[in-house]
Amino acid sequence: MSNHLGPLEVECDAPPYAIVRACRKLGLSEPEDVRWCRKGRRSRRSQTQSWIQFFSPLWGHLMGREERDETLCLCGRPLPLLENYSFTFVSGEQVEYEIGQCPHCRTIYWDKV
Ligand SMILES: [Zn+2]
Repeated sequence: MSNHLGPLEVECDAPPYAIVRACRKLGLSEPEDVRWCRKGRRSRRSQTQSWIQFFSPLWGHLMGREERDETLCLCGRPLPLLENYSFTFVSGEQVEYEIGQCPHCRTIYWDKV
């Protein structure tokens, strides 16, 4: 019924556009054109499982885990390290984000601190 599914989906998983644009100045590659994934606050997986996923993503599939694992990037590599950034809007409002970009597929992972 809705004609707006595409743009809405993108907006759901990316921070406000002003933040996206500012990320270019932080040294991120093509922030306006790459995929953004919000990490969310779902429960973290156990250390053991991260270890298994790190060495053999295929194990996860064999063991019936869901395809999308939060310890791995969409391209199958380990997630990039997130760093804290503080943004100040013209209004003076300050927000903090954790942001990290995968060096392989350039997907940007983020969350609001
Ligand atoms: Zn990646």
